[in-house]
Amino acid sequence: MDLDKVRFDRRALLKMAGMGIATTGFSGPISAVVEDVGSATAKVGKGGKRLLPWSNWSGSQTSLPSLRLAPGSEDELVDMIKRSTRPVRCVGAGHSFNGLVPTDDTLMTLARMRGVASVNADTQEVDIWAGTQLFEIGEPLWDQGLAMINMPDIDVQSLAGAIATSTHGTGNHLGSISSQVTSLRLVTATGEIVECSAQHNPDLFQAARTSLGALGVVSQARLQTRSAYQLRERSWFVPLEEGLDQVEALRDGHRSWEAYFFPHGDYMLNITQDEVGGEAPAVLAHEPTDGYETFRQMSKVIDYIPVFMYSPIMNVALRGQLDEVEMKEGRSYQVYPSVRDMRFNEMEYSIPAQYGVDCIREILATINELSIDIIFPMEYRYVPADDIWLSPFYGRDTCTISVHQFHDRDYKPYFAQIEPIFLKYEGRPHPGKLHTLSAPEFAARYPRWNDFLRVRQEMDPEGKFLNNYLKRVFGIV
Ligand SMILES: Cc1cc2nc3c(=O)[nH]c(=O)nc-3n(C[C@H](O)[C@H](O)[C@H](O)COP(=O)(O)OP(=O)(O)OC[C@H]3O[C@@H](n4cnc5c(N)ncnc54)[C@H](O)[C@@H]3O)c2cc1C
Repeated sequence: MDLDKVRFDRRALLKMAGMGIATTGFSGPISAVVEDVGSATAKVGKGGKRLLPWSNWSGSQTSLPSLRLAPGSEDELVDMIKRSTRPVRCVGAGHSFNGLVPTDDTLMTLARMRGVASVNADTQEVDIWAGTQLFEIGEPLWDQGLAMINMPDIDVQSLAGAIATSTHGTGNHLGSISSQVTSLRLVTATGEIVECSAQHNPDLFQAARTSLGALGVVSQARLQTRSAYQLRERSWFVPLEEGLDQVEALRDGHRSWEAYFFPHGDYMLNITQDEVGGEAPAVLAHEPTDGYETFRQMSKVIDYIPVFMYSPIMNVALRGQLDEVEMKEGRSYQVYPSVRDMRFNEMEYSIPAQYGVDCIREILATINELSIDIIFPMEYRYVPADDIWLSPFYGRDTCTISVHQFHDRDYKPYFAQIEPIFLKYEGRPHPGKLHTLSAPEFAARYPRWNDFLRVRQEMDPEGKFLNNYLKRVFGIV
């Protein structure tokens, strides 16, 4: 086969592709108590009650909640928690990959408690209801001359869900969403409303800013914001070795930088974001290149190609992108999010920043040496140190590396080959993504692990907010 003759009809494919990410939490009108929902996939529970299965975004986590609750106000939330005799798990947008949410008991959503509640123009702090999805925050803040300090690479997550797992973007000096929180309101297992901040209930605050949903139901969060700003994003491919040599210069020379590395490929993708002045265009200015479409095209034919052909095919496809620079420019909240319309499962580890390049080199070499059957790109970002007890960024500047597998392929063999590399580089798993660690391994990696367990025990001695996954992770039998 003459590989240079391979042509990808990428634009046609883009038109065919369904855009937008479905949220697997709740959407549309919701009544306070949602149960007995009829569905082709509904199952029959105790007493002949029909139950609707729950699944996360990727489909890797499922459960059959016996009751679904959706409070419309804080008073209603308090009342529901007081009356619950069974365990309660909260769900946001269902975008976590691991077992944080699944429960066969009560599943609670705060999707009816959303929106910006109040703005303090002097301190630039804003109170936001916990069920608000990130894409609902940008515009009301912009109208007040404000913006979130940084955002992740999608904006579908609920605010409380993002906080619960230290959801982050990239940037040497741009912390996770949890680090932007200045106070929280929680409803405890006994139905009390508790507020915490650095000054008031400081231990609870350090635990609740990344809580895995295990301390109570967050009803509202106060975020530190900043003056509104616009961003210019540039994405371009470079040969792998040239790119690896530039990592630190790009990381330090831009407001933020991230990279995508390609299994079996000799090229990488750089993405920088920088603040720009002037009038923000009302609509996002975006000149897409064909990089994502090339990948989408490859994902469709990969089952028919032997692994030894991945490298030449990948390199032809990537080489074809070398002279293209993709640009996005607009309001910050419009520029951050990307479209993720191919579902996948993901494992992400945070390693000390200084090991980042060595770690990604070892992962790429392992994939080549073991001829691992994978084409999904790896995401590589930087996040600064913080002081949040269960944050993967606790006490150290960090490089995060994510590996992915298509949602309909078994991710376990691939992740099992890569996870030991992360662990060798002192990795800490992303709280919302896949890993195989249990309590002793967490305790060894998180200096404040036992402090978190103490606060959890004080807040929820009866285990109202636990599920099987959390019991394993916390070492509770
Ligand atoms: C396509 C995709 C892209 C992603 N991109 C990024 C990224 O760029 N950066 C990153 O760091 N992560 C990323 N993630 C991971 C994601 O941000 C986290 O898993 C996040 O927690 C998901 O938010 P959610 O609203 O879906 O919460 P869920 O997954 O529904 O829940 C997460 C946790 O929050 C708890 N929770 C939810 N609501 C409440 C509440 N009101 N009170 C208390 N606890 C609550 C739940 O019990 C659970 O423990 C991505 C995931 C996907 C699927």
